[in-house]
Amino acid sequence: MDSSDDEGEEYLFKIVIIGDSAVGKSNLLTRYARNEFNLHSKATIGVEFQTQTLEIDGKEVKAQIWDTAGQERFRAVTSAYYRGAFGALVVYDISRRTTFDSIPRWLDELKTHSDTTVARMLVGNKRDLENIRAVSVEEGKSLAESEGMFFMETSALDSTNVNKAFEIVIREIYNSVS
Ligand code: GDP
Ligand code: MG
Repeated sequence: MDSSDDEGEEYLFKIVIIGDSAVGKSNLLTRYARNEFNLHSKATIGVEFQTQTLEIDGKEVKAQIWDTAGQERFRAVTSAYYRGAFGALVVYDISRRTTFDSIPRWLDELKTHSDTTVARMLVGNKRDLENIRAVSVEEGKSLAESEGMFFMETSALDSTNVNKAFEIVIREIYNSVS
């Protein structure tokens, strides 16, 4: 066997997480990548990403998932952040209406800066805060449908649907490129 057989074929996909400040983007990523949650997470400096590996059809699929470092607070997420992204999680907080109202702006920004995006998921995070819910499941679903996106409500706090949300995006990218 020489190295020309494609058994060792690998995939690497860039995925970005966007949405207003404090919706839980960083915690969704740490929950997915490290199974950690932080009650008092702070925005750090510089762009960071974490890599997760999945096996699909016997192939190694790596997702390089990017997290903003708090630039969204100043509406200053750069084009470099979006460049080459194949997937995006667009996140709002189900307990804060304003974060849902911002979604169209985030989608515009994504469209402007990335023409490679093939899989987008609308994520209503903090599903555990049911008692102070400000956005209904139906509203989330309906927006996602009208934008042709996947939709999921998650909780980075209690882990609900976090792995699922990332994996649906990763599998959808894999299906569209393989
Ligand atoms: P980011 O600014 O979008 O990255 O948001 P963070 O991940 O830093 O989270 C902002 C705040 O929301 C922190 O205090 C988190 O502990 C909290 N948080 C994040 N996800 C959840 C969740 O699913 N449920 C609840 N109740 N709080 C969350
Ligand atoms: Mg953050």
